Amino acid sequence: AVVRPDPESEAELAFEGALRPSSLEEFVGQQKVRRQLQLLLEAASLQNRSPDHILLAGPPGLGKTTLAMIVAHEGARPLRMTSGPAIQHAGDLAAVLSSLVPGEVLFVDEIHRMARSAEEMLYLAMEDFRVDIMVGKGAGATSIPLELAPFTLVGATTRSGLLPNPLRDRFGFTAHLEFYEPEELLRVITRAAALLRFEIGQDALTEISGRSRGTPRIANRLLRRVRDFALVNGGPADRDAVQAALELYDVDDWGLDRLDRAVLTAIVDRFAGGPVGLSTLAVSVGEEAETIEAVVEPFLVRTGLLSRTPRGRVATPRAWQHLGRRPEPTALD
Ligand code: ATP
Repeated sequence: AVVRPDPESEAELAFEGALRPSSLEEFVGQQKVRRQLQLLLEAASLQNRSPDHILLAGPPGLGKTTLAMIVAHEGARPLRMTSGPAIQHAGDLAAVLSSLVPGEVLFVDEIHRMARSAEEMLYLAMEDFRVDIMVGKGAGATSIPLELAPFTLVGATTRSGLLPNPLRDRFGFTAHLEFYEPEELLRVITRAAALLRFEIGQDALTEISGRSRGTPRIANRLLRRVRDFALVNGGPADRDAVQAALELYDVDDWGLDRLDRAVLTAIVDRFAGGPVGLSTLAVSVGEEAETIEAVVEPFLVRTGLLSRTPRGRVATPRAWQHLGRRPEPTALD
């Protein structure tokens, strides 16, 4: 996905896949969402029909892909995966939709990045399991209706606000995924360490879970870095090893990574603490505005380091403190 700051190697992806829970039961945290999904899936199964379309919204790495797989797995349904950027024309979507088998789950990651023309085709498909295929051009153009097999669309987005209302309204249920608490991440990586047969101390696991930006993907990834570290250095995987490994990878005490700190530092040093507009900020750290908004900001806002105001982004006193700086006295002080 484009919005992820880290390039992901094959090994990294295989590792993620191996740790994915395959049932709602095993899925840690997000209790509300889990109960909501459970109900939706059970009702569908009692009525012997496809579950309603589901929209999963939230920052990257919180389990959207995992939940889509669970929806398919729990109902023993086949799963097809694609993404918004792969659907550049209505024809791309028509090809996918027309090849679905009855009851299939279609997962569209980054659904907000799909082409407009495809979006319109999707409305009808979601509602009536039908698409109109346009053939020919100009005065001779006609549309041919095509019946589709009933399916369940699971859309994922980091920005539900970017979806047009008609699309949002056609989902039977929208799940808003929240950042995880450290205790929940502790459960995620305790399970991961057991699956990996990695012997690591309890306080080391606790340290990792407190420094993972509330994100299971990051927690699993840091666990792997610590495993590398212990392997190469030959020492025990204890709290010191975690601290040394995370320092090497530029993860600070609060779990902020290099980009998080670059954003805060830019606001503080170059814009006197803000307010500064998103696009100006993005240019000054050399990142795309979408990445700043979808990946960096949600966590900074949630930890009280950044606030979004109508005039722009502002670093909070806590951010100044975290960076070891003092706000300049202003005329009002
Ligand atoms: P993106 O939208 O960027 O694809 P995502 O939100 O779909 O991200 P996933 O790929 O589903 O995130 O999850 C990332 C990793 O975190 C996976 O390896 C998965 O095993 C783990 N994970 C996510 N949520 C949970 C959870 N609730 N319990 C256990 N593991 C989880």
